Amino acid sequence: MPSPFPGRPNRPPLPVRTLTLADTQSLTPHARRLTFTGEGLSTLAYQPGQDLVLLLPLADGTVGRRHYTIRSLDRATGRLAIDFVIHGHGGPGEHFALTARPGDTVEAAGPRGRTVVNLQADWHLFVADETGLPGVLAMLESLPEQVRAFAMIEVEDKDDRQLLDAYCDLDLDWLVRGGPALPASLGLIERVALFAPRPGRGHAYLMTETSTVQTIRRGLLARGFAKDQISAEGYWRPGRQGGHDHIMDEADLAARMAARA
Ligand SMILES: Cc1cc2nc3c(=O)[nH]c(=O)nc-3n(C[C@H](O)[C@H](O)[C@H](O)COP(=O)(O)OP(=O)(O)OC[C@H]3O[C@@H](n4cnc5c(N)ncnc54)[C@H](O)[C@@H]3O)c2cc1C
Repeated sequence: MPSPFPGRPNRPPLPVRTLTLADTQSLTPHARRLTFTGEGLSTLAYQPGQDLVLLLPLADGTVGRRHYTIRSLDRATGRLAIDFVIHGHGGPGEHFALTARPGDTVEAAGPRGRTVVNLQADWHLFVADETGLPGVLAMLESLPEQVRAFAMIEVEDKDDRQLLDAYCDLDLDWLVRGGPALPASLGLIERVALFAPRPGRGHAYLMTETSTVQTIRRGLLARGFAKDQISAEGYWRPGRQGGHDHIMDEADLAARMAARA
């Protein structure tokens, strides 16, 4: 049987491991934490912000891939936590989060992903909705003391806000939508437009719905951010099933496709 996680040209296939569900926890009204054990987890190397691709059963008997960020890994116990958003639109990821029971297993490929902390940056700007929240919290918690960070995070309900264990010098803005997630989040777009960049070279991490990421990225570029100061990835989009959207200029995309051909 061909691997469900084939490599890309010039890239080796992602390592695959079996995760066993240890326990589940209702984290907030719209998030469930699933904690897994698995062979080799105690020594798993990854960078905060990276994700795993879970291979989840679909209704038609086939399997689908869904990206989920590693929220935390306790190396002493080998327990790995993933926070699943209950977005209310169905889908194998949401279904798994709601129905999986301790002892159930899932195949996971990775870790993967390039949206990780830029250690060269003088300050950091994180922009996310619920799907980017696990990655933003993991990245914030990894920043050393005195590093300047700004985070703008949109959630559905005030009770979807979470506590974090960060030591950096953080300004954290929670934007409460008061309803389900929609594309082109005006709340996040306007909030970022009001942000005054600090002296030095900052780095922005945009981890939310695709059209919101596109609009915010364009705005930051227009305000003088260089492309390499922005990590931009569409974490979901209406009608998309799984996957991830790299947000880049058409010229950059064409060059990348040509390099792959
Ligand atoms: C790098 C990366 C890391 C991610 N990390 C996480 C994570 O840690 N936790 C997490 O919960 N998600 C995370 N996501 C987002 C997650 O992969 C998607 O939301 C995924 O579509 C969920 O799969 P599903 O099977 O529930 O729904 P799907 O079958 O993929 O989608 C069904 C339909 O539901 C709608 N939909 C999907 N997601 C959302 C949403 N969040 N809000 C509103 N509508 C939605 C769409 O219209 C879609 O067509 C991440 C995505 C990426 C790219």
